[in-house]
Amino acid sequence: MSEWGSRQDGIIDGHVHMGNSRQEQAMLAVREAAGIERINLVSIQKPREGSGLPQSLYMKARHPDTFFVFAGLNHAQRLSNGMVKTPTLAEQAGIFARIGCDGIKMLEGKPTSRQEMDVPITDPYFAEYWARVEEMRTPMVWHVNDPEEFWDPATTPGWAKERNWGYGPDDVTKEQLYAEVDEVLAEYPNLNAIFAHFYFLSADLPRAARFLDEHPSVRFDLAPGIEMLYNMSRDPAAGREFFIRYSDRIVFGTDLASGLTPDQARFRAGIVFRWLETEDTFRVPDGADFLLGPPEDGVIRGMALPGDALAKIYRDNFIRAVGPQPKPLDRAAAVEECRRLAAIAEGLSGAPGSATEASRVAEALGE
Ligand SMILES: [Zn+2]
Repeated sequence: MSEWGSRQDGIIDGHVHMGNSRQEQAMLAVREAAGIERINLVSIQKPREGSGLPQSLYMKARHPDTFFVFAGLNHAQRLSNGMVKTPTLAEQAGIFARIGCDGIKMLEGKPTSRQEMDVPITDPYFAEYWARVEEMRTPMVWHVNDPEEFWDPATTPGWAKERNWGYGPDDVTKEQLYAEVDEVLAEYPNLNAIFAHFYFLSADLPRAARFLDEHPSVRFDLAPGIEMLYNMSRDPAAGREFFIRYSDRIVFGTDLASGLTPDQARFRAGIVFRWLETEDTFRVPDGADFLLGPPEDGVIRGMALPGDALAKIYRDNFIRAVGPQPKPLDRAAAVEECRRLAAIAEGLSGAPGSATEASRVAEALGE
């Protein structure tokens, strides 16, 4: 177990990824190594592969007290020009709630999402959906933007380039993406959104403060983006002041994933714990996972936050946004949804749907 987070009880990680249902034991080992009690699986859909949501539903079925699930939207109908059919986005939000999902994960607003589907979130395509999730107060973990470094090849880190997270003049700009969110929030001011990765504003705390002040219904999560820690380590006193002032608006997250080894999980969560809890000056340890970059990339300075702020960040703010317990899974509805996702995958890819994660999970839960 990590030496830092263990000082706090009942930590909830609001931002974790489940690779596939065969990694059940690996995920439990990751959780154990990181020293985290409960986990929110943010489940971006891969419609062609019939993957993303099913494996998270599987974990909820197997460990109902431990795993929250936020479901990603499925854009297969739009992406296939109507060749395959899906429920509308608003209908999907209703289906997810009925299955027992705890919220929605959005990646619409990351520049790569825009490359795949060039439909801004202000488009009429999303309108009914926004109205529905605002009305239902559906919690969302919403990834908008990326670090500014990714728009300049000279500053894009190698690990990001390798994921094709480097953008150029043909891509949507960072300011455009923020402007679109402002427009959506102006029309739907009660969205229960947790913006992932500190909304990529860690280099500009005054702007982050303005955004939180202007939009009282939203929060930020702390999943690295290691640049978040480096940016704030330039002035840990300013970071500390911000975190105490906005301690009601910040949700703990790590971006842990079931594909990590227990050591990597311990390092990843440990970096965030140590940054929040101690006054240490330290680096990413050797042996940390690839997406954290090498130790040479920078120095992290801890903020030594007080216990009451830590308790809010580690647990209470997530509970206020989402609820105290994971919602119970409606198994039959989950099986039905997985079967539908398998059929969509088959329609898109031409490969048999029976080979998908969706089919596998439908079978496992249907027994
Ligand atoms: Zn993530």
